[in-house]
Amino acid sequence: MARTDDDSWDITESVGATALGVAAARAAESRSDKPLFDDPCAQIFVDAAVARGWSSPFTAADPGPAQATRIRMVSAYAAARTKWFDEFFASAGADGIHQVVILAAGLDARAWRLPWPDGTVVFEIDQPKVLAFKEETLAAHGIQPVARHVAVPVDLRQDWPEALRQNGFDPTQPTAWLAEGLLPYLPAEAQDLLFERLHELSAPGSRAAVEGFGTDYFSDENQRIRKARMDAIREEAAKAGQQVTDVSELFYIEPREDVADWLTRHGWQTTVETSAEVTARYKPELAAEMLDIGSEFVDGKLA
Ligand code: SAM
Repeated sequence: MARTDDDSWDITESVGATALGVAAARAAESRSDKPLFDDPCAQIFVDAAVARGWSSPFTAADPGPAQATRIRMVSAYAAARTKWFDEFFASAGADGIHQVVILAAGLDARAWRLPWPDGTVVFEIDQPKVLAFKEETLAAHGIQPVARHVAVPVDLRQDWPEALRQNGFDPTQPTAWLAEGLLPYLPAEAQDLLFERLHELSAPGSRAAVEGFGTDYFSDENQRIRKARMDAIREEAAKAGQQVTDVSELFYIEPREDVADWLTRHGWQTTVETSAEVTARYKPELAAEMLDIGSEFVDGKLA
């Protein structure tokens, strides 16, 4: 589906459905033998979306070997990524940060499942219909947040800092920011603006955890490799009369500044781990077959 500057979506549509894909992966991890985390909300979200007519790409009947491998690898990556961000928040809490902003929260259930320090407030930004689905679904199951939760329904290409302030965000307090599964869905210019705003709103002591996609991720060569991989999966699926969705069709394929470089240029201290390092740490049993997603995990601290 083609993107436009002011497109919007419900949970089962366009970029909204990518949040369901992540929820399905978290539900699968939670059911696995040795889960990295337990996210009881994930399956509840998936079931509520299926009741609305969404069909999960993770439960396609009889996927071929290429598609089955892709599902396993994408799920493992999503699980390792989730664990990395969970640990970031444990560390930010230990630093005494009590204000959290989850950018493009989707169906992230951390406000409901992590052991937040007393007095923590978690602001969640995403498109209005996505957050409405989330709130309605959790309310229907009587699930209460652990931290104080504040939904901020606004598009991240619009004036989200103003929406955040109106909802009680305090820029004089240090903040722990999260951007997971977001950046490729923003144009490069919107990514720069996002970090400018995040930086302006960050008091000393703030931290930012970001899944970044550097310039190399969007290089012609890497595009070609990913396309060849996806073409093989599509061909296999077509023979079985199935269709395969490819979230990268919703990406803005544009070169963009490396996130760690941007933060460092603006006075943040950063540490970076590659997706290969993160998946090897949390999913060592898959090391031999794991596809290298080519992203990086950036942990930034503002002195
Ligand atoms: N961070 C969540 C997680 O990891 O579970 C969701 C990731 S999902 C892949 C992408 C999310 O980004 C969706 O919930 C989508 O609605 C949100 N998103 C993408 N572009 C956005 C924008 N311009 N404004 C608000 N939300 C956006």
